[in-house]
Amino acid sequence: MVRPVSTLRLLLPLLLLAGVVSHANANTQAGTSGLDAEQCAILKQHVLQPGAPVDCPQLQIVRFSYVDFDQVRHDNGEIMVMAAVAPQVKALFDELLKRRFPLAQARLMEHYQGNDDASMAENNTSAFNDRPITGGTSVSLHAYGLAIDINPLQNPFVVRDARGRLSYSPPAGEAYGKRVASRPGSGEQIVELFAQHGFLIWGGDWKKPIDYQHFQVSRKLAERMAKLPVPQARQLFESTVVAYRACRTGHGGKPKDRKICAAADS
Ligand SMILES: [Zn+2]
Repeated sequence: MVRPVSTLRLLLPLLLLAGVVSHANANTQAGTSGLDAEQCAILKQHVLQPGAPVDCPQLQIVRFSYVDFDQVRHDNGEIMVMAAVAPQVKALFDELLKRRFPLAQARLMEHYQGNDDASMAENNTSAFNDRPITGGTSVSLHAYGLAIDINPLQNPFVVRDARGRLSYSPPAGEAYGKRVASRPGSGEQIVELFAQHGFLIWGGDWKKPIDYQHFQVSRKLAERMAKLPVPQARQLFESTVVAYRACRTGHGGKPKDRKICAAADS
């Protein structure tokens, strides 16, 4: 979840036109595991701004199959994440398919010109989007490719205003404000699975605002990973996965101990 696209972002294609091609070519020549030149150019039209915490060589598209809410299989799932976490994210979505956990759809943010409201309105599952956190100026973990939003309709972003009224993003998510963990597509069912794959923080645990769709790593870890080359960032991330799993085993895997083990990453 996040705030609407800025007018500056709409002008960026023009501003960036000259710079994009040469930069993208440099990525290809470097032989990185990141996005290729075409993917990078598309991203820089709307979704990736200058000064973002990560650049094309650090990002990767993970492709996967999923079942929808009618349990119909689709083989066109796409999500963009930091390349360092791509193997864990692929394993995570493969497990969602195995469990028949439904996703409405999963399209890249470029289909929405980086507009998160538009993405949420279509109940789109997504990750990378270079944007500030809602109502603030600090950069979202989505801008690192280290936050994933799952089924925004079933798992809305909920904020309470000064008069105590709740508002929901997407607005239709109000129908899911009263949580029923057993309802298909609910975030509650996959909190432990995300943690097992390194996404230790769930927005559903937050109080102000509550973000049921949102799974992320800690900001501290994200900032460290963004500064490292992909292989080293991957190594660091994998070490947190190993540490979390070892901690969960040590605590006997009790649900209440999840946050204790997750806190080791913060
Ligand atoms: Zn989010």
